[in-house]
Amino acid sequence: MERAEVTGLARDCEGWKVTTSAGTHQAEKVVISAGAWSRALLAPLGLRLPLLAERGYHIEISDPGVTLNNSFTDVEATVVASSMQGGLRVAGTAEFGGIDAAPDPSREAIFRKIARGICPDVADSPARMWMGRRPTLPDSLPALGAFPAHPGLFAAFGHSHHGLMMAPKTGEVIAELATGGDPGIDMAPYDPLRFG
Ligand SMILES: Cc1cc2nc3c(=O)[nH]c(=O)nc-3n(C[C@H](O)[C@H](O)[C@H](O)COP(=O)(O)OP(=O)(O)OC[C@H]3O[C@@H](n4cnc5c(N)ncnc54)[C@H](O)[C@@H]3O)c2cc1C
Repeated sequence: MERAEVTGLARDCEGWKVTTSAGTHQAEKVVISAGAWSRALLAPLGLRLPLLAERGYHIEISDPGVTLNNSFTDVEATVVASSMQGGLRVAGTAEFGGIDAAPDPSREAIFRKIARGICPDVADSPARMWMGRRPTLPDSLPALGAFPAHPGLFAAFGHSHHGLMMAPKTGEVIAELATGGDPGIDMAPYDPLRFG
């Protein structure tokens, strides 16, 4: 396995040429699974998918003074509070922002208020903030499958709020498709080109 940034993707008579920060690789088949960044990798091939970064946040309050035995959800705020090794983590919300835009620091105060609603005794101790980018398409379904005009190129991204849960099945489905097998489910709803 190699960890490197993919900087270019092109097809010639020998197959796909994947240019990375660690060198160039030749491949017969390529699966694009770069989350919200997949859009930028495909654009130079003329493939323009309406994939956005649906950003979510968490704060982890390092010394909250309370411990939850179970996770609690504030359904209205779409936020879950859980006790973790590093403190009380309060996670969720959805924000459509630029993929490269900085996190919004005002979110911390919002999460602290929600945390107080769930656990009124939570201490106001320091918190660490994290922001993640959910790769989201307009119908909230992933893009899974081939690009017929680009033989050997497959999409496996766009899992929105459920990428962790859907990862094992996605791996199974893409492995079947890439090896010419039948995944055994109707793939039409996940067609990467369903938006035209
Ligand atoms: C607050 C929050 C809570 C969530 N909770 C849940 C949950 O409870 N359950 C659930 O199932 N899902 C949850 N999700 C959604 C889940 O995190 C995503 O659906 C999932 O991470 C998408 O996986 P991915 O691998 O497609 O994309 P990512 O996780 O974004 O991974 C993409 C990877 O590609 C790499 N990459 C990008 N560009 C390049 C490049 N040019 N070259 C090389 N590598 C590149 C990135 O560095 C990154 O490592 C949550 C998301 C958030 C934000």
